[in-house]
Amino acid sequence: MPNVLVEPERTPYDLRFRALGFPVRVHPWFWIGSALMGSQLLQAGPEFLLAWVAVVFVSLLVHELGHAVAFRRFGSHADIVLYAFYGLAIPTHEVSGRGRKIIISLAGPFAGFALCGLVYGSQELIGWADPRRSVLVWYVYFSLVRVNLVWGVLNLLPVFPLDGGQVCRELCGQFSGPRGKRISLKISFGCAILVVAYSIFCVMDTRGAGAGFTNQLPSWALGTVFTAILFGFLAYQSYQLLGRSAWEDHHWDDRVPWER
Ligand SMILES: [Zn+2]
Repeated sequence: MPNVLVEPERTPYDLRFRALGFPVRVHPWFWIGSALMGSQLLQAGPEFLLAWVAVVFVSLLVHELGHAVAFRRFGSHADIVLYAFYGLAIPTHEVSGRGRKIIISLAGPFAGFALCGLVYGSQELIGWADPRRSVLVWYVYFSLVRVNLVWGVLNLLPVFPLDGGQVCRELCGQFSGPRGKRISLKISFGCAILVVAYSIFCVMDTRGAGAGFTNQLPSWALGTVFTAILFGFLAYQSYQLLGRSAWEDHHWDDRVPWER
């Protein structure tokens, strides 16, 4: 996810290393946030919680590496930062051109889909994960496939500042010119509200009689309390950005006179 999200401050507890030539910095909140997200796994044993954190680490790193490799392809180096609930690939140079920006945004989710395909394909070929031999290895397999698939799809929704939201902004800018930013923020707000409504519906339906609509769906397609809270926050953020952009448009009209 480029820009909008702020880069977290450096701390003495940061883990630093290089991956594919890119400097990677892991903020301590990454470990805390990932462990909180998987805290219910402690019931199954601490090794499952550790496996979950490792899955989040690999998946987020691969996603950001996808962005970073695309940046490099277009002549910019990039620094990778992993933080609680999100990662950043921060370019050292601005990359211009809508097409390039769209490719950079898509490179993250598609790197995740590639990892998902690799894990799934290798399992189909050699069957390295077998729940009868090791439930833990099976759990790693299942989580890697699920996380990379579901997060990739969620990230492609046209919601700000997710990757799909960045693509939507570029496309709206292409077709609607200066009004594109506001249009993309409206799409972002509407789409985020829909995800919140869908997630609340799923949570109520699964907790209710259990014979409802959600029984027909695969578990990965279900909204959760987490997606409801996350997209509620993103809807609020888009709403605020819309208000701010209305104010800015009113006070600093940078359109050429004949467009006013
Ligand atoms: Zn991304």
